[in-house]
Amino acid sequence: MYIRVRFPSINLLKNKQTMYAQKTIGRRAFLKNSILGSSLLVTTNIPLHAINLEKDDDLLKGVCDIHLHATPDSRERSVNEYKFMQDAIRAGYRAVMFKSNDFSCHDRAYLIRQALPDAECFGSFCMNRVHGDKVNVYAAQKAIETSGGLCRCIWMPTLDAAYQYQRENRKEQGIPVLDNNGQVLPEVIKVMEICAETDIIFATGHASPEESIILARKAHEIGVKRFVVTHANSSIWTMTDSQIKECIDNGAYIEYCYLPCLWGEGTKMPQYQRQSIEEFLSFVRIDPERSFISTDLGQAVMPHPIQGMRDCIIKLQTAGMPQKEIDLLVRHNPAWLIKVN
Ligand SMILES: [Zn+2]
Repeated sequence: MYIRVRFPSINLLKNKQTMYAQKTIGRRAFLKNSILGSSLLVTTNIPLHAINLEKDDDLLKGVCDIHLHATPDSRERSVNEYKFMQDAIRAGYRAVMFKSNDFSCHDRAYLIRQALPDAECFGSFCMNRVHGDKVNVYAAQKAIETSGGLCRCIWMPTLDAAYQYQRENRKEQGIPVLDNNGQVLPEVIKVMEICAETDIIFATGHASPEESIILARKAHEIGVKRFVVTHANSSIWTMTDSQIKECIDNGAYIEYCYLPCLWGEGTKMPQYQRQSIEEFLSFVRIDPERSFISTDLGQAVMPHPIQGMRDCIIKLQTAGMPQKEIDLLVRHNPAWLIKVN
């Protein structure tokens, strides 16, 4: 099925006003707002933007979310990176890796750490058009060399990926990862080599499932230790079980995002199809040893990423997933990937 991939631009202003309003409300109004927020999310019951952290809530202790979006960014986001880290520390998170589609965030992570010494925050770098019309080896290299060594992942093109443009029926060419014969492009191989040498994550970005398999094989050959297939349960990047297994056989870790369980009809991202918890579980159960969960939240119209992560863990526990597997998915594996172990 063809699913249109375009983030909504309407209602953002309206939503911003809601955000500011929520900042200044008391507990009673907060509860009321939470109920209002949950009506936007028919099956999730998560309030929009508000975070409600109970004092001895161990649910989030040690959690690592290594894919979420915050301001400053070229799109509207629900929270800024600094504020998010303050909340994440309070919630007991172990580490966070931000993702900015266009600009850098590893350098901001360095500054956030000066102000918040307990903040285990990292950045990542996407090979999108602001860095040129091809995957830019030089930009990737410099991101990794930046003070603090906090860039822990190079993503292949995301919003400017050739596959994404093609699915959006855009006239222009997006940034390719393969040549016309289906071979991995030299500049992509070079970035793989840099990721292997510096031992950071090489992520598939918005490559197609088929492209991701070819990338996985090549990365395996080159010796990339931390190769990640991203969004394997999301929208146009959804993989079949056998595609997932093939990537794992080539040494990949598979990322499953919780965002698809929150968008859909009745929410402010109605153009996407909601993923049921059962479907989500059918992905995360494939191989918890070689997978992890991230929220991919931060969109201005979606719940706060901490609320999203909390909701996800509760849903996994309620479904009877063993705690050991949950720990692999939201604690151990993402921590290992960004090297905080
Ligand atoms: Zn994302």
